[in-house]
Amino acid sequence: METELKKYKVSEIVDGFVYNELEGKGLFGLSGKLTIQPEYQRNYIYADGKKDVAVIDSLLKGYPLGLIYFNNVDKNNFEVLDGQQRITSIGRFTTGKFAIKDANGREQLFTSLPADKQSKIIESELLVYHCEGTETEIKDWFKTINIAGIPLNEQELLNAIYSGTFVTLAKAEFSNSSNANIQKWSAYISGTAQRQQFLATALSWVASSKGQTKEGYMAKHRLDTNINELKTYFNSVIDWISGVFRDVEKEMCGLEWGRLYEEYHKKSYDPSKVSKTVQKLYGDVYVKNRRGVFEYILGGEKDTKLLEIRVFDDATKQTVYKQQTAAAQKKGESNCPLCAVGHDANKSKIWEQKEMDADHVTAWSKGGATTIKNCQLLCRTHNQAKGNK
Ligand SMILES: [Zn+2]
Repeated sequence: METELKKYKVSEIVDGFVYNELEGKGLFGLSGKLTIQPEYQRNYIYADGKKDVAVIDSLLKGYPLGLIYFNNVDKNNFEVLDGQQRITSIGRFTTGKFAIKDANGREQLFTSLPADKQSKIIESELLVYHCEGTETEIKDWFKTINIAGIPLNEQELLNAIYSGTFVTLAKAEFSNSSNANIQKWSAYISGTAQRQQFLATALSWVASSKGQTKEGYMAKHRLDTNINELKTYFNSVIDWISGVFRDVEKEMCGLEWGRLYEEYHKKSYDPSKVSKTVQKLYGDVYVKNRRGVFEYILGGEKDTKLLEIRVFDDATKQTVYKQQTAAAQKKGESNCPLCAVGHDANKSKIWEQKEMDADHVTAWSKGGATTIKNCQLLCRTHNQAKGNK
């Protein structure tokens, strides 16, 4: 890859600047020669009233903004490879999209700044490396850079590597923060549209349902002109979750819904019964892991390991061990009640405490509490044989 260093004035860069409010994208600059947001770039994330303001402050104070990289598409057309956020911030400010505070704390738009400050901004010079290389070289290089302190996440990299019609359509659906479905999706999927987490989730669900990786799926569908399969599968999962679970609990967010859908969507559930069970388990002080509640219910309320039922504490175990052992020694039988009723050599064996585990006499699933009254110690073998409680 070849590079050439050039200096541009801000006034040149923002000449012909267009900002697309709906998509959150800075589009063009350099009198139309510069594409600010190429297909593989992320959406603009600086518009938080801090980072964008900091860019303008830096210009006013004469601080360097760091290197910017352009990719030469041809002699007269360039794409921003790195620096899109900074350029968009400057373009948005000079076109009056946000204000900064002056020394007296008053909000100032670009046009209300004193002339000397306006020209300080407009005359600032930006250092730009023009790069030339094949698409593969550019994208490989793009994989290795961090854009202005916000590292690209995995999905953003994949979007860059597999850019094309499919990614464009998929981003329009899943990475568009004005999509009205986002609120519903957010109940089950953590992250934001802008940082591609909904797209990442949608892709991983459909890919793994076909035994493929996300990368494999993106590569295979790269030139597709529709995203029907992706969208249909995603909506099926979301509709299934909200159909089975009427409650929306915060612990539902970020669960492995794709896997759960594959495992359980063919089973039928009674949503009002499911809802009662969810509420009962949420009210149960012995349930430590609420995130396990949903899979526990889907699996027919059998695998209590998912709930991480609260265990007996050490003090309780020690007290019970002492009582149990003293009583057993008196009777001349094993301190494991199950060994004591057996017929082998362990019938009168006194186990050490470290050889025993605490057990719920009445299982938690049958209403047994995690209290000293419901605690007994069993030898390892018998405790394991008693199995899931
Ligand atoms: Zn035993």
